[in-house]
Amino acid sequence: MLKMKDILDEKDKRLRLVSKDVTFPLSKEDRKVIDEMVEYLTNSQIERLAEKYDLRPGMGMAAIQLGIPKRFLTIVHEVDEEEFDTYIICNPKIISNSTEKIYVEMGEGCLSVNREVDGIVPRYARVTVEGYDVDGNKIRIRAKEELAIAFQHEIDHLNGIIFTDYIDKKNPYKDADKYRAI
Ligand code: ZN
Repeated sequence: MLKMKDILDEKDKRLRLVSKDVTFPLSKEDRKVIDEMVEYLTNSQIERLAEKYDLRPGMGMAAIQLGIPKRFLTIVHEVDEEEFDTYIICNPKIISNSTEKIYVEMGEGCLSVNREVDGIVPRYARVTVEGYDVDGNKIRIRAKEELAIAFQHEIDHLNGIIFTDYIDKKNPYKDADKYRAI
């Protein structure tokens, strides 16, 4: 079972790597890692389990956050009280996006960033993501709002980008009026 200490901190240079596409079939190890990522993300969003196992809550994780420079990511989206939609995607690409942009009013979070970060990160309100499932079948996911942000955040990790990169340090709320807060 993954623990918080398994997740790389923002200071770790490996988070700046551009991850490489995976090929199919996935290795046993990669499949195991994916299962562990989903398990972590699910448990971390269930309060009693998060407490029991000392997990910081998160809804998304990219392989590189575990030091694995491969292009796959998982998102566990709570759609109702302890009810989750789970997304696993390999070699993801955003193939279309809305013109409208949004940002998380409370600030975006990341399992690799263990501090409060003020400021806005403009993200597309809606995206369509194409990629492959764990068996190598092509999949297409339409995401909006919080889920769309999660995909953009995790795909950024595959390109060595951390959300804090987008924040203007001198003026963290710059241009906030241009985007919709969620
Ligand atoms: Zn992150």
